[in-house]
Amino acid sequence: MANYSRAAVQTDVRKLELMDLPIPEVRDDGMLIRVEAVSICGSDVHYFRNKPIFPAVLGHEVCGTIVEMGKDARRTIHAFYGPLSVGDRVCVYPGVTCGKCMDCLTYGDGVYTMCRDTFAYGDFFQYQGEGEPPFTNRVNEWPYVTGGFAEYMYIYPNTYVWKVPDTMPSRIASLIDPLACALRAVELAQRAPGVLEDSMNVNSTALIMGDGAIGLFAAFYARLLGVRQVLMIGASEYKLGVARDFSGVDAGINTLASTYEERREFVLSRTGGRGADTVINCVGNAKAFREGADHMKRMGTMVDIGNAINPAPVEFDVQRDLTFKHGTYMGMMATTPATFNKSFTLLLQDEKFHFDKIFTGQFTLDTLQGALENATSPEYIKGFIQF
Ligand SMILES: [Zn+2]
Ligand SMILES: [Zn+2]
Repeated sequence: MANYSRAAVQTDVRKLELMDLPIPEVRDDGMLIRVEAVSICGSDVHYFRNKPIFPAVLGHEVCGTIVEMGKDARRTIHAFYGPLSVGDRVCVYPGVTCGKCMDCLTYGDGVYTMCRDTFAYGDFFQYQGEGEPPFTNRVNEWPYVTGGFAEYMYIYPNTYVWKVPDTMPSRIASLIDPLACALRAVELAQRAPGVLEDSMNVNSTALIMGDGAIGLFAAFYARLLGVRQVLMIGASEYKLGVARDFSGVDAGINTLASTYEERREFVLSRTGGRGADTVINCVGNAKAFREGADHMKRMGTMVDIGNAINPAPVEFDVQRDLTFKHGTYMGMMATTPATFNKSFTLLLQDEKFHFDKIFTGQFTLDTLQGALENATSPEYIKGFIQF
């Protein structure tokens, strides 16, 4: 094994620098993986465009091969389909929670983002608690490599991983994160069987706002759950084509080539004039949320996963949009290893679902900068690095 790891470090706004970071010493409770594939997430693109809080290695949609395990790692690392050994490939849950705070005790260990000290791989972790921070992703502190845009990545104790079978390509395994996020958003719209507010059943129309990877996965999962009709509002003819082909979307409309009135008509004409039962907003734009609320029918449900990043105040008429509509609005931020495991189960059926259709480009650490710069191209859905 080399004694350094090549890594793409974000050092400034829209600036990656290739660096050789030290290979960390593996402590008894951790392990080291050699990254095989890492997918590029929308949040990587967002970080790239902004000033980094400190130089860090981004990338959290990771599949890699275990090259070294601490002597206690089988006990401290949670492995679905384990036990783990050196040489196994794993895909990685992106967050590590403290397991001890009131939120971890209340909601369970591993509930990503609820724990105030959720560490995120490939992100900027700022410790809120007392004493020494238990985790870091500063590239100048051990364990140096805690993001996937690097040849090696350190795995902390209390991380959840999935042992990847030989039949699953690493790039497919790296999709566990974005697929799980979309899956969780759709899950939030599910209700107890038969209740009045049930908006996700064989009579329902699900409207997906957004034709990015999360929107395509959300549409795919809604279709899989058996709703009658899946509609999509997107911004690219190419991606709307992938929505039909991969996600099974019945009809889509391009927001750049239509007026608001035409989109209202698009939804109303397909829902008996009532609107969509479920709306999942996967666009990082408050206007999309606003429009989605208009497309939601009375007694409908709307889930927002898109507005996770930028603050975005929006006009909301409590009487019209909420109370008179008997509407349910949900935000999606928290997720769990159990949700990821459902995603993993779907990835195991790649032969049936063809998840490769989501990928639009293969990159290297050297070409990653260009990939992040061109991520808004209408022909781009999701890129990955194969090492
Ligand atoms: Zn992601
Ligand atoms: Zn906690």
